[in-house]
Amino acid sequence: MESADLVVINTCAIREGAEQKVIGRQGHLAKLKDANPGLRIVLTGCSVREPDRAGLRRRYPAVDVFLRPDEEPELVDRLGLASAQGAIGTVAPVGPVGATTTVGRAVVGVADGLSGTRARAVGEGTVARGSTISAWLPIIYGCDKTCTYCIVPFSRGPERSRPFDDIVAEARSLAAAGYREVTLLGQNVNSYGHDLAPEPRFGHVDAARWAGRRLDLHGRPDLAELIRAVDGLRTTDGRPAISRLRFVTSHPWDLSDRLIAALAECPSVCEHLHLPVQSGHDGVLRRMGRQYTVEHYRERLDRIREAVPGIAVSTDIIVGFCGETEEQFEATLGLLEAIRYDQVFAAAYSPRPGTPATHLADDVPPDVKRRRLNELLAVQERIGLTRNEAWLDREVEVLVDTVVPPRSHDHGGPAAGATAGQGAGEGSVRLSGRARTNKLVHLSGEPGLVGRLVTVRIEHAGPYALRGALVGA
Ligand code: SAM
Ligand code: SF4
Repeated sequence: MESADLVVINTCAIREGAEQKVIGRQGHLAKLKDANPGLRIVLTGCSVREPDRAGLRRRYPAVDVFLRPDEEPELVDRLGLASAQGAIGTVAPVGPVGATTTVGRAVVGVADGLSGTRARAVGEGTVARGSTISAWLPIIYGCDKTCTYCIVPFSRGPERSRPFDDIVAEARSLAAAGYREVTLLGQNVNSYGHDLAPEPRFGHVDAARWAGRRLDLHGRPDLAELIRAVDGLRTTDGRPAISRLRFVTSHPWDLSDRLIAALAECPSVCEHLHLPVQSGHDGVLRRMGRQYTVEHYRERLDRIREAVPGIAVSTDIIVGFCGETEEQFEATLGLLEAIRYDQVFAAAYSPRPGTPATHLADDVPPDVKRRRLNELLAVQERIGLTRNEAWLDREVEVLVDTVVPPRSHDHGGPAAGATAGQGAGEGSVRLSGRARTNKLVHLSGEPGLVGRLVTVRIEHAGPYALRGALVGA
């Protein structure tokens, strides 16, 4: 960073710790600017919230330009790079407003029409991709839910769906570029399409929702329609042009029967669903504003497991939310035992200024939150191990994506400790990848296997990963 002329900080505001880390580095950044007066610092991501522009300057004094997440494509213009070094350090006026989020009467989020910017970047081939194997494909921006603990509706603004044809075109270009895996992305992908204009070609899309908000979906594309269209992109020999299709995140309240049918019927859709539950107690779910009950959640999951036998399921959980009693926490542990998730992402509740939950007392003491979190992770570690042991001696398809660097305490060559098998010969290294169930799988093989779909026989199962031998590439 010492030699940089431009530093772009992409922030996460979901929990307080992440924001504090960036605030804590302002002094260091200011020193870098003293040493290099040409240095420009840009802050973007969820910490840049529209109603909070004034507070940003105070908390991040070293920053020259603030960009809301939906303003990121404007980075070059705002820095003046495209316009002969124009003025820097000013906060540009908000562009044409495409949608707003209101809580009560207050406008808490605004967003401009994003879709055009992305479509243009896709056309010009200038979308930054972190991998040449797997790609994220945003389908909907923002969130219209009002989970009381969550900063996202305030930082990311209201829901805006990208046009159906733009998404399918981007998927087609990813397939042509050789991407094996595509993940459709949004805070709540199950809401996709409700804000698009109705079209005769989507006349068959039923307005009825099994549950969820009463949205007028008639004649608009939904996620099921989109998944079927991307799955329908085929190679000349009839295989899905994108081998693996995933989507994240699904809100349980909006998970439709149409979507479950698409999961079951589309061969490219991976057998994995991330379905955040947050708590196993209805009282806590109500305070969280999650809209569903435990019963509703379990009904949806039963339907999915019926439709896609063997599907892996992961979830998010918050422990120690406002007013969570020991009994309510135990109900969450009970839910884990009943559902038997493959993976759980758990966090202790962290109050976020400006969210509705700040009006509730954050009354679970930090040591109790910590203890509950550890207890929950221990329960899940045992469940995860059992779930993974069920894969022993079975063959799985793995998309190899990483050459794992040798660890400092490894002796005896790069593949030391590797299991035997077709790939464990000379020149073989440690590799890892994901099964269709999203399980992390370690194996040994040639570095050239990165980016390929291979078959691995599972020989070892741990709570968080599998290890096996290559049996086919
Ligand atoms: N849209 C997704 C959903 O409906 O679950 C999740 C998006 S959020 C970026 C990811 C996870 O962060 C949430 O599922 C929740 O478990 C966690 N999270 C959000 N706000 C939090 C807070 N204030 N404290 C602790 N965890 C939080
Ligand atoms: Fe946050 Fe809830 Fe929206 Fe997820 S659905 S982003 S948790 S408000």
